[in-house]
Amino acid sequence: MSSLIHPVAKALTVSGALAATSLAVAHAAPALSALNALRPWLTPELCGHGTPDHVALTFDDGPDPASTPAFLRELDKAGVQATFFLLGRMLVRAPGLGRELVAAGHEIAVHGYEHRCLLARTPGAVRDDIARARDVIADLTGERPTRYRPPYGVLTAGALAAARELELTPVLWSTWGRDWTAGASPDSVYRTVTRRLAGGGTVLLHDSDCTSAPGAWRSTLGALPRLIGACQARGLRLGPLREHWTEAVAPA
Ligand SMILES: [Zn+2]
Repeated sequence: MSSLIHPVAKALTVSGALAATSLAVAHAAPALSALNALRPWLTPELCGHGTPDHVALTFDDGPDPASTPAFLRELDKAGVQATFFLLGRMLVRAPGLGRELVAAGHEIAVHGYEHRCLLARTPGAVRDDIARARDVIADLTGERPTRYRPPYGVLTAGALAAARELELTPVLWSTWGRDWTAGASPDSVYRTVTRRLAGGGTVLLHDSDCTSAPGAWRSTLGALPRLIGACQARGLRLGPLREHWTEAVAPA
């Protein structure tokens, strides 16, 4: 994330999907026939609200050879799977890492090809970027992504239309760790996430510093065992978004 965008992204997170819609209306009015056009999108799914006993763990901005392997090891050690929202431009540099994510059972999803705020792009450019990322991810990993999260969490009417056309479900988040900042520490990431952590929530973290302060991912990684422990202590299942709207399977 860039410091320029943080206030925008923060507004989205605090107020949820309604803020996202208002923002899209404010900045992309010509693209909208009416606010009613967006009402079907104001779903719990968009806000990342799922089954009450489940927490979705999500990582943005990878895959990154400098950091993602460490997350793979930590998650493997804990027996936890997550959803990784990939950048196409990162995946083409490390396609093997994308395949490793899939092989380890993690869910892969679309974050875009480039990491640019959609408000600065035309609807056509937004659509092309999302389609390019989806196709690259499918080609290089063999897995067809079904979810989309826009850079900085900023959605526009054009992005929503493109996601629908490309059969991608937009998903934001309900809590984050502010783990992209230079001042973040494992403790600050843990405390920031858990302040708003609740069953049914979606956690946003980053497994790459490609849009963050250099080395910021180390704070995320350092917070991960405590976060996993906090969910377990509350009896919450922790996993990828594909399990976020399904009930727990009773042991045989
Ligand atoms: Zn991002």
